[in-house]
Amino acid sequence: MFSLSRHALRHTRNFALIAAAKWRHPNPLGVVAAAATVVPIARCFADSDEGKTNPSKANNMENKSEKVTVNKEELRKRLTPLQYQVTQEAGTERPYTGCYNKHYEKGVYQCIVCHQDLFSSDTKYDSGCGWPAFNDVLDKGKVTLHRDASIPGMVRTEVRCSKCSAHMGHVFDDGPPPKHHRFCINSASIDFVRKAAPAPTPTSSKK
Ligand SMILES: [Zn+2]
Repeated sequence: MFSLSRHALRHTRNFALIAAAKWRHPNPLGVVAAAATVVPIARCFADSDEGKTNPSKANNMENKSEKVTVNKEELRKRLTPLQYQVTQEAGTERPYTGCYNKHYEKGVYQCIVCHQDLFSSDTKYDSGCGWPAFNDVLDKGKVTLHRDASIPGMVRTEVRCSKCSAHMGHVFDDGPPPKHHRFCINSASIDFVRKAAPAPTPTSSKK
């Protein structure tokens, strides 16, 4: 698919850099951990630590959720290196390696960092791109969208958790009708929970 080859190229290019830099930054930022509302029953532990840097993080397009500050030192202990790199350093797991790529159990996918419900299994589909794909978000306010020009000659829309700003992936416009959204999300950024999707807010888009 269009975005896949670009991802793959970037991964190859940045792999050595990321692998070398992964544990170099102590991240002294103070944080207040978000209270988890649901204890995930399934956690994704991918074995890849490949990723990318993403220097372009601007143009917040949506911002509707309560913000939480995250303790990065606590996160380093709680998350796997890949989960930390993807969510906190805008990394990308290798395609076809994530544990949720072919996962279709009924439930909700939460942010791995703050446990905010983000995606429903009802909107998950097999896009063939190698990452979990959703054709919609649970609620428009659950994510923020950001212009990402980190790949030369290519502008993408980065998806982050609106509550803790964790990097989730990107959204493209080549998804299934009627909305044509393809939220291309890293397995390392989400946790699956077997529960019914919460009712959408009145302002949310219809799935
Ligand atoms: Zn979050």
